[in-house]
Amino acid sequence: MPGFEFWGEEEKKEVNDVLETGILMRYGFDAPRKGIWKSIELEKEICKTFGSKYAQLTSSGTSALTTAMAALGIGAGDEVIMPSFTFVASFEAVLSVGAIPVLVDVDETLTLNPQAVLNAITRKTKCVMPVHMCGSMADLDALKHICNEHNLILLEDACQSIGATYKGKCIGTIGNAGTFSFDFVKTITCAEGGVVMTNNEDVYTKCDGFTDHGHDHKGVDRGADLHPFLGYNFRISELHAAVGLAQIKKLNTFLSIQRKNHSILKNMLAQIPEVSFRVIPDENGDSCTFLSWFLPTEEITKAFVAEMKAQNILAGNFYWYANNWHYIKQWLHLKEATSLYNLNAEQKTALLKLQTQDFSASDAIMSRCISTSISLLWSEEQIKDKGEKMVAAIKKALQTVKV
Ligand SMILES: *Cc1c(COP(=O)(O)O)cnc(C)c1O
Repeated sequence: MPGFEFWGEEEKKEVNDVLETGILMRYGFDAPRKGIWKSIELEKEICKTFGSKYAQLTSSGTSALTTAMAALGIGAGDEVIMPSFTFVASFEAVLSVGAIPVLVDVDETLTLNPQAVLNAITRKTKCVMPVHMCGSMADLDALKHICNEHNLILLEDACQSIGATYKGKCIGTIGNAGTFSFDFVKTITCAEGGVVMTNNEDVYTKCDGFTDHGHDHKGVDRGADLHPFLGYNFRISELHAAVGLAQIKKLNTFLSIQRKNHSILKNMLAQIPEVSFRVIPDENGDSCTFLSWFLPTEEITKAFVAEMKAQNILAGNFYWYANNWHYIKQWLHLKEATSLYNLNAEQKTALLKLQTQDFSASDAIMSRCISTSISLLWSEEQIKDKGEKMVAAIKKALQTVKV
């Protein structure tokens, strides 16, 4: 799953190019940098690899989402429809621009349920933000249709699905904008970093300025730049971009290993009739960073988790339902609107309302779901051993809990 498993000479070489000149910043210092522009090179490589017209690197996936929202004009009072199952960064970014996260149910794709999105649209809705969780994708045709009908922005949080495709197009390049994260555990890593991809020049130009204090990057030096709008410092460094440049060249290798390992494990679990699998809108486009699967009931799923824990082999199997990071159930800080600074009144009211919102449709799915992360380093023998142990634990859970 994560590119850090393949750290090697290529990464060291790219980082060393930067260390040789000592120019660690992506802008300026034209003479002493001796032609080394890792961030620009990585942005070009991203455009080529994923088929995006423009790419703006950022300091993280979270800042990429904030940047995309700013560039798309999402702000105070705007509602952003997003799923109840995601990483906390998705709602952090919404809150950061003053907008209101509207959380809705997921379906067996583990992403936005299109009908739940339709039900949540109000006069204030500005954007639909699917989160392509765990290497796979949302039903983008259905969501695009809804966005077109209701004149809404489609922003893809593709942070977890680098290299996944939907009907021949790369995930993250299909909406008005899309983001990847290059944090340490993502499919390709920069240590920390992210990117906004878009096919719209105006959106790109705004991202470019926003990530660098609003600089228009048209002056003869930084002091001569104009500031057509307010911005922040969400810049990536040359050291981080250098790591990403080595990693992106390995992406196809990562994807083919993931797909191979994923299919071996899936075939093993598929022998148990009680096991079912995540619905994937375009099966061929799955990046296969995870194998996500379901057991028939919450009780059986909990028995499986308990059995794996007892044998000390749960590592790499994620039961998101009980996890503090990825699902609405445990996001107490969000539901209680616990913020270090004053949130605006509309945001606060919306967050407190989450305490009583009915998420039983999401619960019914997430309480039966396990995602098994797919390592790049497994030997075929190790996968078989892992699969056999999982199959045994599933069978034991099915026997223990009378359906
Ligand atoms: C990792 C992740 C992010 C944020 O990325 P960082 O680079 O860690 O800030 C956003 N959304 C999702 C779904 C993620 O998994």
